[in-house]
Parts: sequence; structure tokens; C-alpha cells
Amino acid sequence: MQRIAVFPGSFDPITRGHESIIRRALSLFDQVIVAIGENSEKKSFFQLDQRLKWLEQIFGGEPGIRITTYSGLTIDFCRREQISFILRGLRTSADFEFERGIGQMNKLMLPEVETVFLLCEPEYASLSSSIVRDIIRNGGDVKRFVPEGILL
Ligand code: ADP
Repeated sequence: MQRIAVFPGSFDPITRGHESIIRRALSLFDQVIVAIGENSEKKSFFQLDQRLKWLEQIFGGEPGIRITTYSGLTIDFCRREQISFILRGLRTSADFEFERGIGQMNKLMLPEVETVFLLCEPEYASLSSSIVRDIIRNGGDVKRFVPEGILL
């Protein structure tokens, strides 16, 4: 059976931290589905189309990576797509607490899906989409924080 993982997120915008988790996960799974969760309550900074285009630009054509969007619960997406693993990145203990809650609720709702965490690379421990957005809002240069070739 194929080992399929989903890496769900807002990617608003994608950062080098996200990119690193996705690439490192390729040695663990046959397929990594990078999925932008459409959350109607969470207003995004960048349009969904734009976020999707960036993901396609970075990973398009890479064997083992699929890009998509979904709405609703991540576990329902897993059920529909026959995904066995939810992949998440951990930067800090705050991430751990947040992820523990979601991961354990997901486990109660869909026990056959395992949440798998990768510790982020040390150089990305302080990098977040929200800080990147703040820098952009204030006219700073974010080139070194987002994947190669992404123009913001
Ligand atoms: P969400 O809106 O679900 O928090 P994000 O797009 O912010 O989605 O993040 C998706 C995943 O990427 C989460 O598991 C998050 O912990 C992880 N992540 C975010 N930033 C980094 C980083 N700098 N290094 C490693 N993982 C990260």
C-alpha cells in the first residue's frame, strides 16, 4: 500500500520552513500532498489562487508531490483521498501544544490516520508566515525567508 501523507496548511505565504518539511518528508512517504485548507473564517493575506500558484511553481512536476486545496475537516479530506498520515512541522513547545490538541482530536475522530511531526531545521525555528506578512506590510525584503524564485 502506498504511504500517502497530507501536509495541510494556509501557506499564506509559503516559507522556507514549510518547503524544508515537505522535501524532508519525501524520504518517508511515497506521496506528499501539499493541501491548502480553505478556511472561510480565516481571512487570508494572499488570495488562494496566488498561494496555489506559488506551490505549483515550487513543486510542480516533482515526483512524489501533489498540490491541491480542500475545504472542511482535514480528516474528511484524508478519508476521501485515502491518506494515512497527516504531516505537521514543529518549531517550539507552543507549536507542540497547539498540534497536540488538533492531533489528538483527529485521532479520536479517525483513529486509522496517524499525525507525524518533523522537527523544523534549527535555522527555521523563528520563521513563520505571520512574521513574513508583517515584514511585507512594512516594506521589508523577505527573499531569504521564502522559497527560491518566489517574488513578493
Ligand atoms: P496553519 O494555518 O495550519 O497553521 P501554516 O501554513 O502556518 O498552517 O503551517 C503549516 C504547517 O507548517 C504547520 O505544521 C506548521 O507548524 C508548519 N510550519 C510553519 N512554519 C514552519 C517552519 N518555519 N518550520 C517548520 N514547520 C513550519
